Amino acid sequence: MSGLETHSLYALPIPQCRMEEILEQRAHELGVDIRRGHEMVALRQDADAVIVDVASPAGSYQLTSRFLVGADGGSSAVRKLSGIGFPGITDDSFVGRTGQVAIPPPVSDPETGELDVPGLGRLRPASFTRTENGLFAYGMFQPGVYRVAVFEWDQPKLDDSDSITIDELREAVRRVLGSDIPIAELPAGIPVVMSRSTSSNSRQADRYRAGRVFLVGDAAHVHSGVGGPGLNLGMQDVMNLAWKLAAELAGHAPEGLLDTYEIERRPVGERVIMHTRAQTALLSPGAYITALRQLLGELLHEKNNVQHLSDLLSGADVHYDMRTEGEAHPLTGRWMPDLALESEGGPTRIAELMRSARPLLLDLANRADLRKVVADWTDRVDVVAADSVEQLADVVLIRPDGYVAWAAGPETSDATDGLRHALTTWFGPPV
Ligand SMILES: Cc1cc2nc3c(=O)[nH]c(=O)nc-3n(C[C@H](O)[C@H](O)[C@H](O)COP(=O)(O)OP(=O)(O)OC[C@H]3O[C@@H](n4cnc5c(N)ncnc54)[C@H](O)[C@@H]3O)c2cc1C
Repeated sequence: MSGLETHSLYALPIPQCRMEEILEQRAHELGVDIRRGHEMVALRQDADAVIVDVASPAGSYQLTSRFLVGADGGSSAVRKLSGIGFPGITDDSFVGRTGQVAIPPPVSDPETGELDVPGLGRLRPASFTRTENGLFAYGMFQPGVYRVAVFEWDQPKLDDSDSITIDELREAVRRVLGSDIPIAELPAGIPVVMSRSTSSNSRQADRYRAGRVFLVGDAAHVHSGVGGPGLNLGMQDVMNLAWKLAAELAGHAPEGLLDTYEIERRPVGERVIMHTRAQTALLSPGAYITALRQLLGELLHEKNNVQHLSDLLSGADVHYDMRTEGEAHPLTGRWMPDLALESEGGPTRIAELMRSARPLLLDLANRADLRKVVADWTDRVDVVAADSVEQLADVVLIRPDGYVAWAAGPETSDATDGLRHALTTWFGPPV
């Protein structure tokens, strides 16, 4: 990807506990009531409401709400209790072993995390090494602490386990790399993580909605972790659904708005399942796969192909149908780039303006004619006039999830009608 002028694929190495802290803090700021240790055990719905039974340390109780969002992970009880199927595949052709270990110098370089493996040369953290006997991957999450993962195919059947020995891990690494690595236990105080897994699921809910119940995140899709797309995919589901539910509860959602959640997000989940399966195939053993890797390697000398993969893996190729009236501007349906802006209030960015989670009309060309149209929607839609060095459009209407509902350039004809249509389609009728 480094050969591309721009690409939006990069990793943010944030430990999960930190990620949860940040999300929890934001939820508290917004007044969300988080109840830990409370389990939803049953649900039913009628035309007006969803009723759930909750088991808690202090006893059982019921909750009634207009909608229920199942964000309860791959084994989702919400999905099962709503009768939503979860078709796909379970791959049990491999045995994977993972451990959090020390690898002392000189095999490891404590500065860079690189490993010098006899017979294989220097390996980089966060890379995959595919050999004739399997797959080796590792990362260094803090100096001297390595997370090693090793996968083998055509192995005798074994059970999953959360407590394998360090010798079992060491032996598997030796079989796959054909060389010994001095894998050692970590000092006391660093959690011991040693596990064996023998299957991987790749499945998608056959519906994302059943009446008043919605699924988001792993409840709606699970797939191989290769490339780490899971968290982003789930967060984007939530971003897509949340503002639509809010509009429904506030009473100004246009007809059918809630249905666009599944229409927009299911194909995105399908594509992540597709590319994680493709990557899993490319990491598996055998002469046919080696040939396929060689062919793909040749195709990746073409910049366009690299760009295609970068866009696929980062989700930059997501494009929603915004049901535009007339000719659609190229930005329409796409993720709004995070432009640097100069506004009346000083320098800002798109990401800052979106913090309010309200629709935004961004005027980059002093189009008073179009700002006037929004006057009938200002209870729901913010209007900001600003300058930007990158003049991607005159005016952009951005949904709270960061996607462009409508845009116009200097050439756009019937812009007032187009904007009125987009405002009504996505944010409801005028006041
Ligand atoms: C080892 C591992 C490494 C990963 N690494 C990455 C990575 O590097 N990058 C990445 O993007 N993704 C990664 N993933 C995937 C990522 O963790 C998931 O995609 C993400 O956590 C899904 O979030 P979620 O909120 O949908 O579900 P979950 O994180 O599974 O959360 C579901 C929550 O619902 C709760 N719950 C379940 N049932 C009930 C019930 N009946 N009542 C009440 N609460 C309930 C659970 O306790 C849990 O808190 C990894 C996953 C694993 C297992």
